[in-house]
Amino acid sequence: MIVFDLCCDAGDHRFEAWFASSDSFADQQARGLIACPVCGDSRVKKAVMAPRIGTKSNQRAVAAPAAAPAPDATPSAEMARAVLAAIAAKQAEMLPQSRWVGRDFADAARAMHEGRAPEDLIHGQTSPEEAQALHDDGIAAMPLLVPIAPPDAIN
Ligand SMILES: [Zn+2]
Repeated sequence: MIVFDLCCDAGDHRFEAWFASSDSFADQQARGLIACPVCGDSRVKKAVMAPRIGTKSNQRAVAAPAAAPAPDATPSAEMARAVLAAIAAKQAEMLPQSRWVGRDFADAARAMHEGRAPEDLIHGQTSPEEAQALHDDGIAAMPLLVPIAPPDAIN
């Protein structure tokens, strides 16, 4: 089925009509079988609109709105949690091999760097200034990605 937007010659009334085919429309039009539902004028012609292929319902096709961004186009909160969980798991794996040195972290790291203490994996606390000083001296130190409670702060 094909639906055409038609309009009559007498009153320029617009209406829709369904036809089996374009030829069927032309035939019925030529024989004056199509009448305007408003004024009955049989001199109808196609309105200036493209014909649409009919669907089961004869509702007008509605143009789909511009596609909205897919909800998962950006990393979901679930993904972020998964990444954090992976980081936490890695840290949990490393920490038991690491020695808590608390506030002595900067001194301990510097001692190892200067060869005054054996190389060890340590973690502890520094002030931002101490961390900056370590960095300036080329001493590798990185913040724990997941905050932990200092062991000596737990009763
Ligand atoms: Zn009419």
